[in-house]
Amino acid sequence: MADEDLDLFVIGAGSGGVRAARIAAGYGARVMIAEEYRVGGTCVIRGCVPKKLLVYASRFAHDFEDAAGFGWTVPRPSFDWHTLIANKDREIARLELAYETTLERAKVKLARSRAVFENAHTLRLISSGQQVRAKHILIAAGGSPYPGERIPGIEHVISSNEAFHLSQLPNRIVIQGGGYIAIEFACIFNGLGANVVLVYRGHNILRGFDDDVREHIRDELTRQGITIVCDQTVTSVSKEEGGFTAQLSRGDRVGADQVMFATGRHPNVNGLGLEAAGVRVNKKGAVEVDKFSRTSVPHIYAVGDVTDRVNLTPVAVREGHAFADSVFGGRQVPVDHRNVPSAVFCEPEIGAVGLTEAQARERLARVDIYKTVFRPMKATLSGRETRTFMKLVVDGGTDKVVGCHLVGPDASEMIQLVAVTVKIGATKADFDATMALHPTAAEELVTMREKAASYAREAAE
Ligand SMILES: Cc1cc2nc3c(=O)[nH]c(=O)nc-3n(C[C@H](O)[C@H](O)[C@H](O)COP(=O)(O)OP(=O)(O)OC[C@H]3O[C@@H](n4cnc5c(N)ncnc54)[C@H](O)[C@@H]3O)c2cc1C
Repeated sequence: MADEDLDLFVIGAGSGGVRAARIAAGYGARVMIAEEYRVGGTCVIRGCVPKKLLVYASRFAHDFEDAAGFGWTVPRPSFDWHTLIANKDREIARLELAYETTLERAKVKLARSRAVFENAHTLRLISSGQQVRAKHILIAAGGSPYPGERIPGIEHVISSNEAFHLSQLPNRIVIQGGGYIAIEFACIFNGLGANVVLVYRGHNILRGFDDDVREHIRDELTRQGITIVCDQTVTSVSKEEGGFTAQLSRGDRVGADQVMFATGRHPNVNGLGLEAAGVRVNKKGAVEVDKFSRTSVPHIYAVGDVTDRVNLTPVAVREGHAFADSVFGGRQVPVDHRNVPSAVFCEPEIGAVGLTEAQARERLARVDIYKTVFRPMKATLSGRETRTFMKLVVDGGTDKVVGCHLVGPDASEMIQLVAVTVKIGATKADFDATMALHPTAAEELVTMREKAASYAREAAE
């Protein structure tokens, strides 16, 4: 016999879970949410938000340097890691409290505990042993850093979780990984003055992004002094006097104060008792769901990173909201996972939406490419060696803009708006007909007239 009966039990108070719990409660459902760590989840506590705060901190290095060309004399700046981390922690604590207040106001019960399935309708709260029965269950347990194969010395390696709480700024850091988290942390530490070596097992960083973007950003990062080592892995890490040594697969040894792996993330399904509930996971260990986020058990749903669809905060939030609307709001709401904009908050930023050139050429009969590379206006006086890159991928059959890829200052802000145009099916002619706003970088998006390339193939789908 369960200690409590509910309409909905949510596992995990992160982006997806909190949104789903609040909306379901708004529809009158009796809801409990369990959180084993801190309310707010990865995004708020050790993901997007603290990351962006560190990105802001790291960018001042360039601002101080660039100021000279505009007539400013800046005394030699100094940086204090402890101030940054303390201020960041205070802001995260404030946000955590705001999330808790939101749940309280929505009359969602918060259980500060790990929750595991006893069976398909019952969960056990580990901290108290309490059993809770619910009509519906939402798995919103997120994901965790995955360090890859166990190599000798792996116990010395940190993940992004620890990078937010280092007792001091490393002078030298080796980061293994080629995804957005690895690249962002490489730029954060580089901007704050550390010597950064980025090691990636593949041929080029940022797999999945447009190939031109990958080339362009690699050059930019290298120019800023980040050492990028591709086609290699860290095979062992040993502790030495005053730091660590990372052994690379081709024999090089790199000294560092910290070694960080950002080699991917795994859905949090271990020990959750999914077998006891009959919930199926797919080959990659993620909870299997349909387009309404329903698992193999009809009254159990899953949203966010634990389903490994598009692992971004706004997607988890949208999935959580759609779940609550569908199950408690009386209207079936599927989530459209196409054309999700994404950014890499490196220096300079990347913004991307829609198809890459390679994807478009694979899927479409005709593809037109427009692209431009130029020196951003600010760099003319600052003297900074940097270039902005912009690319539009156009369906040659319909003239629709099906992809946009940017590298440059404020690329993340630009791509959010370009995403609206891609979503509503704007054509290249619509872009051309839009008046430019001068002088901006974004005006280049509506003034690219010359095709850089045009492809056609006969046997397209
Ligand atoms: C370093 C980093 C930077 C990122 N930057 C961005 C970015 O710039 N933009 C962006 O959109 N996304 C970013 N992300 C991804 C984003 O954080 C995730 O996609 C998002 O948080 C997923 O939300 P979620 O609800 O699925 O899971 P989470 O937010 O991870 O929440 C899951 C929660 O469940 C809890 N939990 C797990 N198991 C249990 C259990 N059995 N019982 C109770 N509680 C449990 C966890 O403690 C966690 O709090 C970043 C991620 C990282 C790691």
